[in-house]
Amino acid sequence: MERVKGKVAIVTGSTYGIGEAIAKVLAKEGAIAIVTGRTEKEGLRVIEEIKVSGGEAEYYSLDVTDEMRVKTVASAVYDKHGKIDILVNNAGIAGPNKPTHEYTREEWEQVFDVNVTGAFLCTKHVVPYMQKQKSGNIIYISSIYGIVGAPDVPAYHATKAANRVMAKIDALLYARDNIRVNSVHPGFILTPMVENFLKEQSAKSGISIEELKKGLDTMHPIGHIGEPQDIAYGVLYLVSDEAKFVTGSELIIDGGYTTT
Ligand code: NAP
Repeated sequence: MERVKGKVAIVTGSTYGIGEAIAKVLAKEGAIAIVTGRTEKEGLRVIEEIKVSGGEAEYYSLDVTDEMRVKTVASAVYDKHGKIDILVNNAGIAGPNKPTHEYTREEWEQVFDVNVTGAFLCTKHVVPYMQKQKSGNIIYISSIYGIVGAPDVPAYHATKAANRVMAKIDALLYARDNIRVNSVHPGFILTPMVENFLKEQSAKSGISIEELKKGLDTMHPIGHIGEPQDIAYGVLYLVSDEAKFVTGSELIIDGGYTTT
């Protein structure tokens, strides 16, 4: 129950989906979960649920594309707790599902703004505190879509590949500061992001959401898509001291999707 006891963990985009599960699992294992995102109602719900289960959590409103706000939140958390042990760069959007040549520049840039620049800004404003304390853990939530291709969401693929390499570069840059940096690569996980993806696909194709979901299930050799907790436990391992020799690595959690 205490694999990350007393650690201060900022999880971006933890108002729902995978981020919510990460915040809850870290809190269950003793961390102070700093829940962040734009939807205050959901953020307050998540921290309430953590507290009811006996964990510690705080909510900060945070749009990762707003550099001033990122800086303010990082400094507020550090001032209050005297440290920031963990940063999980999880906030992300899928962007439009259409071929590359049909993207507008604005649509393309919006996906990069959240998934790449947002993660960069959070790392930028948290690393100096980690350097000061000579310890830290950063996770980039990439995707199987940062490793293999598929004929959909092209900007998303590009951003997730960027996240994968950002983790490796930061692992090298900050290894001597005792800051470990790793990426995590989920397969399809049932969250609002995937629910919306299925709804859009169903509206376009006329195929029912249930049928489309079955199709996604069969793409994973294990026979089904994953749950947010499947990812959260991978993150827990990487940020715990059990993984003290693990940096610059990529943890694929995908029910076998990328093995074929
Ligand atoms: P989701 O259900 O859509 O949740 C996304 C989270 O990101 C929400 O908490 C949302 O909160 C937050 N967010 C979105 N834009 C933001 C912004 N500008 N600033 C701050 N927070 C923002 O997505 P998910 O499926 O949980 O995905 C989480 C991460 O896992 C993403 O990086 C995604 O690429 C990755 N991933 C997901 C899957 C999957 O199958 N679900 C697979 C591979 C990788 P607010 O709206 O409250 O801001």
